Parts: sequence; structure tokens; C-alpha cells
Amino acid sequence: MIIVMQPAASEEQIQHVVEAVEESGLEAVLLRGEQRNVIAAIGDKREVVTEQWLASPGVERIIPILSPYKLASREASPGATPVRLDGQVVGEQKVQVIAGPCAVEDLDCTLDIAEAVKEAGAVGLRGGAYKPRTSPHTFQGLEEEGLKILHAVGRHTGLAVVTEVLDVTHVELVARYADVLQVGARNMQNFNLLTELGKAGKPVMLKRGMGATVRELLMSAEYILSQGNGNLILCERGIRSFEDSVRNVLDISAVPNIKSTSHLPVLVDPSHATGRWDLVAPLACGALAAGADGVMVEVHPQPQDALCDGAQALRPERFTRMMDDLGRLAEALGRGLASPATVESDQ
Ligand code: PEP
Ligand code: MN
Repeated sequence: MIIVMQPAASEEQIQHVVEAVEESGLEAVLLRGEQRNVIAAIGDKREVVTEQWLASPGVERIIPILSPYKLASREASPGATPVRLDGQVVGEQKVQVIAGPCAVEDLDCTLDIAEAVKEAGAVGLRGGAYKPRTSPHTFQGLEEEGLKILHAVGRHTGLAVVTEVLDVTHVELVARYADVLQVGARNMQNFNLLTELGKAGKPVMLKRGMGATVRELLMSAEYILSQGNGNLILCERGIRSFEDSVRNVLDISAVPNIKSTSHLPVLVDPSHATGRWDLVAPLACGALAAGADGVMVEVHPQPQDALCDGAQALRPERFTRMMDDLGRLAEALGRGLASPATVESDQ
């Protein structure tokens, strides 16, 4: 169940309710929101008298939650939950585009890509410093050196940096350099990693596993939310099917499906969803039309030489054309594209 505090409830009143919930043997998770704070009481409530909480100062109402994903569900938070990242807000009206190479290869290439995608209207820079590769014999990422490059380029351009955390032992290190910590598809059910990310104090982007249902994605989200980290974005990136002309099959239905049941923002990654650059722009438009909060795509100036995922990378010129299409579509949908932050290097 969720205990909704009044907008004007004091910190003392909030803590009083948290303690009362814990004293009754339940777990209390405090979720801080823009308008009001809510406390999720998790556990077996059969023996608990909840009416007393209603009488506590500062409490507005108590809502029972029937959904198995207690914190990710719309019952927990009827409005959408925007996620703030470095001057940008994901999950409000405007469409957010995150773009960049699959892997960080070197400083010059990362900077060139970042400047090009920013010029075209992207608000975030993606790039892997730790790469989850199918083969151990392929490029595995520049590791901390890659993080330093991302951080420097992010500060220079004002783009929010999104990068993957591959392992639970890397959380602190990656959090030092990145604005958003990405959980890759292969780690969607790495529950220890999710729990640590819930404590990291940074926004998280959780990608759907290629063999995971929407319900399983939302249950994984629960691991992060239950540590008190409400800055969570979900990402649909395609699921496995028998179709072999594409890398994965983009489950476009996941977007309105998740939105109908959860308050969390949803991005779509049409690059990993298809593995084919020629399908990226049409599916990015489809994602927007289906109600996604934004898209994340891979961009590389020489896809034929990319160290990772060249076949799905858009050249910067093609990316710019896609952004023009997305801009028109976003206007037609009454939303518009978010604008990149202005930094000193722009002046
Ligand atoms: C990525 O975004 O860099 C990535 C590896 O994607 P996924 O985890 O969806 O395969
Ligand atoms: Mn990739």
C-alpha cells in the first residue's frame, strides 16, 4: 500500500510515518516526488492496523496497491514521473533524443559525434566504456579511459552522459563520470546490480532484456525503486523472435502497454532493436507515435570502421535528417523536441 503525504507535510511528519510503518513489521520505502512524498509500505499487511496511519499528521490518504510491481505501478503514482538529468527532463511533454557511438573509441571521434548530434538537437550522449560483447575476442571498451572521455565531452557540449554499468563492482566508478547509469539488456535481471544502482543516487536507464516480458521489466524496476531511487527510465530495445532479417523485433506495443500500467518514462532504442541503420529512423518515428518519451540511437561517422555495431549506426547526416522528421512529428503530436542545454562553448 502507498501512504500519500500532504504536499505541505513536514520532514518530521514523514519520518514519523516511516517509523510507524517499520514498527508494524513492514518495510517503508520513501519516494520523494515533485509535488508530494509517498511512503510505500511493503510486506504482509494482514496483521497490521493501517487506519491509525491515516490519523497521523501530514497523511493525505492511503491507497491499496494490487499490482505486483508496487512502486512502478500507476496506482503508486497516478501522474507520470519525470526524470531530471543534467538540465533535461525525461518524461514530461517534450521528446528527448540521446545519441552517440555504440562504444567510446577515442576522444576526437567521441567529440565529433557529440557536436554533430547536439547540433541536430540531441540532449544526451550515449557511448559504452564497458561493452557487453557476445564474443570475448571482440573490443570490450576503453573502461575508465572511456568514462573520462565521455565525462569531458559531456561537460564540453552540455550533453547528459548515458553509459552502461556492466558489473556491480563498477557502480561507484561509473557514477563518478556519468549522468545516467544504463543497465543493458543482458543485465536486466542482475538483481544485485539493480539493488546497488538503487543506492547510487544517480538516474538509471533500465533496458528490457531480449527475452524478458514487460512484467519482468517492471519487476526489475522494482529492485531499483525499492532502494529509494525514483529516477528511473525504462527502455524498450527489441526482443528475440524467429524473424532473422533483423537483430531483434521492436515491441512497439510495449510503449503504450508500459505507459498504461506504470508512471515511469519510456525510451525506445531502435538501433539495437533492428541491428540495421536503414530501419532506425522509421522505427524512431513509430516509437514517438506510440507515445515514447524519446529515443536513443547509435551514430558513427564511419560505420564501416566502427569497433562495435557499425551496421546499425547512422551517419551524422542521416541522423540530422531523422531529427528533422522527429521534430515535425513531435510538433504534430503537440509535444516538440527538447532543446540541448546551452554551455559556454556555444557562445
Ligand atoms: C547498448 O545500448 O550499448 C547495448 C549494449 O544495448 P543492449 O543492452 O540493449 O543490447
Ligand atoms: Mn551497440
